[in-house]
Amino acid sequence: MCHLLAENMEQQAIISDQIKSVGRVSVLIARPVTKPYDYLSNGIDLQIGDIVQVPFVNRMCIGVVVASVASDVANQKLKFVSDKYGEHRIPVAMLDFISRVASYNMIPLGAVLKMVLNVPEIFKFSDKIELFVQSETSCLKNFRITPSRKLVLDALAKNGPQTSVQIKGDTGVGSGVIKGLLSCGVIQKQFVADNFTPQPLGALDKNFVELNDEQATAVKSLINVTRENKFSVSLIDGVTGSGKTEVYFEVIAEVLKKGLQVLILVPEIALARPFIERFSKRFGAAPVEWHSELPTKKRRRIWRAILEGEVNVLVGARSALFLPFRNLGLLVVDEEHESAFKQMEGPRYHARDMSILRAKCSDIPIILASATPSLETLHNSETGRFRKVSLSQRYGEASLPKVVLIDIRSNENRNGSWISPVLQKAIHATIEREEQVLLFLNRRGYAPLNICKVCGHRNECPSCSAWLVEHRSKSRLQCHHCGYKIKVPTCCPECGAEDSLIAAGPGVERIEEEVGQMFPDARVGIASSDTLSNGAALINFLQLVRQREIEIIIGTQVIAKGHHFPLITCVGVLDADLGLAGGDLRAAEKTYQMLHQVAGRAGREDKVGKVWLQTRQPDNPLMQALSNWDRESFLQLEKQARSEAAMPPFGRLVSLIISSKKEIEADQIARLLAASAPSTPRAQILGPAPSALAFLRGRHRRRLLVKADKNLNVQKMISDWLDGLKIRGSAKVEIDIDPQSFA
Ligand code: ADP
Ligand code: ZN
Repeated sequence: MCHLLAENMEQQAIISDQIKSVGRVSVLIARPVTKPYDYLSNGIDLQIGDIVQVPFVNRMCIGVVVASVASDVANQKLKFVSDKYGEHRIPVAMLDFISRVASYNMIPLGAVLKMVLNVPEIFKFSDKIELFVQSETSCLKNFRITPSRKLVLDALAKNGPQTSVQIKGDTGVGSGVIKGLLSCGVIQKQFVADNFTPQPLGALDKNFVELNDEQATAVKSLINVTRENKFSVSLIDGVTGSGKTEVYFEVIAEVLKKGLQVLILVPEIALARPFIERFSKRFGAAPVEWHSELPTKKRRRIWRAILEGEVNVLVGARSALFLPFRNLGLLVVDEEHESAFKQMEGPRYHARDMSILRAKCSDIPIILASATPSLETLHNSETGRFRKVSLSQRYGEASLPKVVLIDIRSNENRNGSWISPVLQKAIHATIEREEQVLLFLNRRGYAPLNICKVCGHRNECPSCSAWLVEHRSKSRLQCHHCGYKIKVPTCCPECGAEDSLIAAGPGVERIEEEVGQMFPDARVGIASSDTLSNGAALINFLQLVRQREIEIIIGTQVIAKGHHFPLITCVGVLDADLGLAGGDLRAAEKTYQMLHQVAGRAGREDKVGKVWLQTRQPDNPLMQALSNWDRESFLQLEKQARSEAAMPPFGRLVSLIISSKKEIEADQIARLLAASAPSTPRAQILGPAPSALAFLRGRHRRRLLVKADKNLNVQKMISDWLDGLKIRGSAKVEIDIDPQSFA
């Protein structure tokens, strides 16, 4: 894609002069368009980055001025810009970022802008607060003072303009009294802008924690890097509980002192509550949060405040990356290895990689933090592209827990339960010591499969190639891909046998049942996305754990990461092999990261922890590495395997997903694409093959995998290849650059 946007401010000044004389501008619209369109500026003084409203295909659309134009379209054919939003512009570095995100991920330019302008009704100016004040005119007819009216007038005289809620709160009068005063003209309405002002941070200089030597060295080195005020990537590679967060907090404080803005990306904002509490403790106020649960109006107010440069620190999930900061000084990506950073629906992109791009466009430093960095990031730090600081010790007295492998194939460990006798004993001892247990199973619901014991029928989702998961607590069968749910049938839908459906395999609910039988007196709590569906539920749960109201947590990944529970000294992983099934490229890496994180929950303070991994493959090098806390040996093996197969990070992958409501159509297009694949020694095209989820939400899916040399311009190759491909009917080709999974 050509570089559409101005490179720097100087150029911007020249271009904006031209805009005035030519009177036409190029506007990128926030819809999935691939290029900007020309408009007449209509006498409005426009500059690059201005947010405008323009007519486009019979409706008003929002867009951004990206350049002046000298195209040869006749003026008569052009439409006029109809409105301009406020005085604040989208910064040029941001426009550059938009353009690069679009070309790297092969997303239409306008679709990326749409993620930037992802606030409802930006042009709605009426976010105003209604206040009441005493009128200037003093002598009024028809006015009769009553005790309630007097209360209101006195309150206004004392406090100045107030909202009706404040007045009612102060005086105890009802709305009628305010209305009455208004109709007599004794008080009147006044409107003020409802601006969002974040709580001011304090204590930038105050370091409440005493850093240990390793932490101090890390902080010093990172602060030196940020002082350079230019693009660089640093990795904090530190074991769980080593204080990575404390370290980057100190760097954040340094950047804030310079008056710059800081953006912290976390994998899931719903899980960031403890983080926000810690931040508030360190900085005296909470950071601004950005997530999908924000009410519309608040979202708009925060967005505007960011555009106006009012927000110092923001923490958010991947979409926060597209907020229009004016003065960004530092980006932090916490748990950089997390797959939640990959956006899988709609425009696909990897937020960690795009953060690095954003730091580059803004020429600022970025910090990645993890206890189990991705192979990509480690590779980049080995080749010197990223700097690395290491924290090898847990903070304070805490030591890493001992990891024990339990071979669940052996006789002694087979007792017909999901919890082996060894683990059962360990749980018992832990409760006796008045400490806590975490049992980890990354499976929601009661059972992953519901099967008829008479005919063997399995209940499947009608729209996906997936079994329905039994949720006994709600007596439902549910598809975890599309959300389809039905009541658990009383007889088999296939053979009609009554009460014949049985659960196969365990989910967390079933483990809860078993724990209840083994330890009838223990206080047990399930932590999964079903039970902790929002921030409030999570806070509540964490509180119960902290107060030891819960002794045994049975949790999926929602509880496995980042949390700090001092009393958890026993972690049991019920099925350590779970993530290894299926042929995903990253299965081993992801499993290692997940189990390493889970194990990292044990013994985080002075009490020694122990981790039990139930596995069928105790000799697997991955299990061996976990049991010895020997990350390096696992990484060496994994790297070697990837390098031999020229897989990432040693080669590149792009996935093309062809989908259609009609199976035959999906197959045809997939074959057609494969037949017209470019032939080059620098790329191999594999497939077509049914994708891991061959049927999803009613669509049949096929996949082609492009495996290319690291420095091949694979985007260009693919766009040449797909150019001219005619797709009819319900078919669709989606491009996934650097896919994280083969689903
Ligand atoms: P990580 O992010 O590496 O897992 P954290 O930053 O969560 O580690 O630190 C683990 C625990 O140790 C937290 O409770 C944190 O407050 C505490 N901690 C870390 N460093 C210090 C320090 N220098 N002084 C006091 N407490 C610390
Ligand atoms: Zn489904």
